[in-house]
Amino acid sequence: MKMLVFGSLNIDHVYQMDHFVRTGETIASLSYQKIEGGKGLNQAIALSKAGQHTHMAGAIGQDGLFLRDFLQSHQVDTAHLQLLPSPTGHAMIQVDREGQNCIIIHGGANQCLSRAMIDGTLSHFEAGDYLLMQNETNQGAEIIRAASEKGIHVILNPSPLSDALHSWPLEQVEWFILNEIEGAALSGKNTPAEMLDALVIRYPRGKFVLTLGAEGAYYADCQQRLFQPSVPAQAVDTTAAGDTFTGYFFHAILSGHPIAFALRRAAAAASIAVSRKGAAPSIPYPDEVEEKLQAL
Ligand code: ATP
Repeated sequence: MKMLVFGSLNIDHVYQMDHFVRTGETIASLSYQKIEGGKGLNQAIALSKAGQHTHMAGAIGQDGLFLRDFLQSHQVDTAHLQLLPSPTGHAMIQVDREGQNCIIIHGGANQCLSRAMIDGTLSHFEAGDYLLMQNETNQGAEIIRAASEKGIHVILNPSPLSDALHSWPLEQVEWFILNEIEGAALSGKNTPAEMLDALVIRYPRGKFVLTLGAEGAYYADCQQRLFQPSVPAQAVDTTAAGDTFTGYFFHAILSGHPIAFALRRAAAAASIAVSRKGAAPSIPYPDEVEEKLQAL
């Protein structure tokens, strides 16, 4: 069975600033870094680093060809990436001396997906394959419909939240992976227990993974509920904690392991990611995760 990540690829332009630019002001940055990003790209890399053979579909412009190289250098299959005549999705991120940030996002090619691109990509996949998607591209509802019609297992990480999500055919989603804010928005509830109660009633065929940062993670479906505490870590940067958790969790599930096993491995992998700076580079390899688990 194949794993396809259908999602966003971004160029993150990160500027270290003395202070955020004010109206009418022009100031030089203290430093600049260009970083591979996008939820789709990070989750594809997390799956691949976890050991899952992974395909990535999405769209970039000419300026984003290095993102394709980056995915390939992590053994992600990029045959279904489209090169479009528009700029690659990107973010301009100002970081001030206190570590606060302010961000402009331009969706670019991520917002130019077409129904033909979805159908063309999915023609290479079949019933029983898995598709992992987020909410950083256009055509989200169409991707869910087209994939589930083919019998492909749909996994949704509804990030970033948007009002449009509420009109998506969420009853066709098999797996949801949510953080606390996304869980609250989808369920209309405030506590994790209430969120899961509401979600399994509303989507009785859904399987829910709810991650709660340092508080751990829950799994729930209409028959069972499991809790996985987080693995203690010296957190220095929680970027990609959720993406790492997602990659390790679903690699374990696709490999046929029980949910409790998948939760434990995912928590151990995410605890390593939070102890390191950065996004994709902070995602660990399986030998590091094994070592962590053995030390517990
Ligand atoms: P992000 O958007 O930062 O990638 P997220 O909001 O999607 O993250 P979280 O719920 O914050 O996801 O974290 C996912 C998992 O990562 C948690 O369930 C937990 O296992 C692990 N984790 C997060 N923060 C910590 C921490 N401080 N210490 C140990 N583990 C952590």
